[in-house]
Amino acid sequence: MSSTPTLGALVDTSSGPLLIGIVAAAIYFTVMYVAVAFWVVRDARRRSESWAFATFAALLGLGLPFLGLLLYLIVRPPRTLDEERALQLEEQAFAEEEIVETPTARPCPTCGREIEQDFVMCPYCRTQFARRCTACGKWLRLGWHVCPYCAEEVGLQSFGRSGRAASS
Ligand SMILES: [Zn+2]
Ligand SMILES: [Zn+2]
Repeated sequence: MSSTPTLGALVDTSSGPLLIGIVAAAIYFTVMYVAVAFWVVRDARRRSESWAFATFAALLGLGLPFLGLLLYLIVRPPRTLDEERALQLEEQAFAEEEIVETPTARPCPTCGREIEQDFVMCPYCRTQFARRCTACGKWLRLGWHVCPYCAEEVGLQSFGRSGRAASS
């Protein structure tokens, strides 16, 4: 007579608390299964922009309950897109810092101490590297006889101890 009893009929006839336990466990596992699959897909979306990967994650989560989650944790990208972006920004900042840092410091050719690239005189040993054009005020190298910016003849005697040279 009751060779194929339906779930409802079994619960209705209350053939035992065991059945209610089984039903509760089934509901519990179904909810867990859906939640895990949902989490896997959402996590896949956070870690990859590719829909193919999200579909693959969904298949793992839905096709292989719980075991799919384990497999997904093994194959998923190690970092989320946000983490990836932050890491890239950090690396970029580092690279920019290096670019900025390299030309600003150089050793003084006379005493060898670290000085700024645009210093015109070593503050330690007073070696002069450049002088100002008397006409336009731009910085000129010591060997230049003429200012390349305003064509002013600057000569060689006007640098260094120019004050003493002029007074004599
Ligand atoms: Zn020096
Ligand atoms: Zn000049």
